[in-house]
Amino acid sequence: MTKKYDVIVIGAGPGGLTAALYASRANLSVAILDRGIYGGQMNNTAEIENYPGFESIMGPELGEKMFASSTRFGAEFLYGTVSKIEQKGDQKIVTTDEETYETSVVIIATGSEYKKIGVPGEDEYSGRGVSYCAVCDGAFFKDQDVVVIGGGDSAVEEGVYLTQMAKSVTIVHRRDQLRAQQILQDRAFKNDKIKFVWNALTDEIQGDGNEVTGVKYHDKETGEEHVLPASGAFIYVGIQPLTDAFEDLGILDEQGWIDTNDNMETKIPGVYAIGDVRKKELRQITTAVGDGGIAGQQAFNYIQTLSD
Ligand code: FAD
Ligand code: NAP
Repeated sequence: MTKKYDVIVIGAGPGGLTAALYASRANLSVAILDRGIYGGQMNNTAEIENYPGFESIMGPELGEKMFASSTRFGAEFLYGTVSKIEQKGDQKIVTTDEETYETSVVIIATGSEYKKIGVPGEDEYSGRGVSYCAVCDGAFFKDQDVVVIGGGDSAVEEGVYLTQMAKSVTIVHRRDQLRAQQILQDRAFKNDKIKFVWNALTDEIQGDGNEVTGVKYHDKETGEEHVLPASGAFIYVGIQPLTDAFEDLGILDEQGWIDTNDNMETKIPGVYAIGDVRKKELRQITTAVGDGGIAGQQAFNYIQTLSD
């Protein structure tokens, strides 16, 4: 039998958890669906020091705290990978791999996933030296040399984190300037364990058939090729939206991000999008949380109009 809710939130990252808190506290029946554990990208983040109220907090711990808040007013957490949303009059039908749900409001908070760099060896050695998550895998590289590829916030922040266990961290970036926030750059430049390789295009993750042994790159300007010996290659070259399931709704931009207005409304009444999955400038926990609060409240307003 199809289960019914006032609001279904898809994704239990900081955005989705906040939307669920607001909607359930307004006395709506709310289900939060996630294909994995709650917390979203915060589970892949070592230390968060730009979320107000905490000088510094581990990502998974902040996820635990948000989950406890968001389920306090009765929101249910359910496992499931959403594959489709369909409209049925005012109602929406949300389909997962195992269940079908009916709801008045859908709040899409599916966030993003890491991009691959697309070089030989990346897939072959994934989980055997190639990683996209320093928090998950950093401990395997105690006293070893690791390479981080990328120049944004993730590469620099997680590179600094890796210095706590690795012998050395070499950040390989394709330009001669980092994209990361200044405070993260300053911290990395001050850290003796971190070296930088500039204007370097990664060509291959090399290995011995079993695990990673190095990263091959060439200098963009001189064309010279080099190999950095390393047992770990952490790849942080950006993110892409997780929106395949919503392609049929006609709410995506050309890159797959979801278009909304300031009230987090998509062009479909009763369908909202929040957090990283939304087309926006600043993708952060604070902005996901802000979006979630707005959408949770808008859900209440929208449901009032249905009963008028
Ligand atoms: P997410 O946190 O991405 O959560 C999305 C959820 O949706 C996930 O749980 C996922 O499993 C689920 N999902 C996806 N598709 C489906 C589906 N089809 N069906 C069901 N569930 C689905 N921001 C900061 O403010 N400070 C930091 O220090 C910081 N550090 C970061 C470090 C790293 C390495 C990375 C990658 C990001 C960092 N960020 C940081 C950014 C921050 O993590 C994100 O902006 C934030 O998590 C976005 O929240 P969200 O709720 O939009 O999505
Ligand atoms: P990002 O900001 O998009 O940076 C990606 C980096 O990878 C850029 O430096 C880019 O180079 C490089 N790159 C892209 N494609 C490449 C390729 N094919 N080969 C080599 N290098 C490549 O992604 P991110 O660092 O993962 O950050 C994602 C989001 O999370 C951002 O919004 C960020 O602010 C947020 N975040 C925030 C924090 C924090 O607040 N502390 C921490 C982590 C992440 P160019 O610079 O040349 O484009």
